[in-house]
Amino acid sequence: MRRPLVAGNWKMHGTRASVAELIRGLRQLALPVGVEIAVIPPALYVTQVVTGLEGKAIGVGAQNCAVEPMQGALTGEIAASQLADSGCAYVLVGHSERRQILGESEAMLSRKFAAAQACGLIPILCIGETLAQREAGKTLEVVQRQLGSVIEQLGVGAFARAVVAYEPVWAIGTGLTASPEQAQEVHASIRAQLRTESADVARGVRILYGGSVKAANAAELFAMPDIDGGLIGGASLNADEFGAICRAAGS
Ligand code: PEP
Repeated sequence: MRRPLVAGNWKMHGTRASVAELIRGLRQLALPVGVEIAVIPPALYVTQVVTGLEGKAIGVGAQNCAVEPMQGALTGEIAASQLADSGCAYVLVGHSERRQILGESEAMLSRKFAAAQACGLIPILCIGETLAQREAGKTLEVVQRQLGSVIEQLGVGAFARAVVAYEPVWAIGTGLTASPEQAQEVHASIRAQLRTESADVARGVRILYGGSVKAANAAELFAMPDIDGGLIGGASLNADEFGAICRAAGS
């Protein structure tokens, strides 16, 4: 039985004051039992969030890490070891905004994934197709290539301690959501791809859906057999909305 995970990606949002406000809201939430919950603030606010959420069952993650696991001469980057030292338990790898806007390559992402695991962090590998790729009928091919690249570099065993997030690029921040059936088709194909290498890994790995998830649509997405929770962007900036999404994962 896979434990659902709901993770809130705050992206490049927040100030010390708004983060303090969000922490206050999160602390007041009634959280469902049996659901793992995390928030992923900008790196600058990780310490504030870790301290602010002390005693609350909400983990903290980072949105990115360096290709090198340990601290060193890499100006502007943050090592996975430093994220772990600051109280992070998760790190996003390959969010589409970083793939598309910052040009992160598949090779770079495998190194980040490995760096995260070397420091005890759980990588959340984000994969998904653009609208043009979906319209060209290439969704499964694109997602298989993105997942396959990490499997090829690190082996399927790496996914025993990782999470996959299927995030169709056309659904991120657009208000468009994949239908539960569209999402399930891709999630099932991700699990099937892992199963060709390891039935155990495929059975245990959590595959999150991300892309304009809100309290209003979360329950029907989370009800699908291969959807094990969500990666939530915009809606995670509102504590009450985020709480409602977390509860949908527990029902
Ligand atoms: C995301 O950024 O990972 C995301 C899913 O964003 P949104 O929920 O705003 O579409």
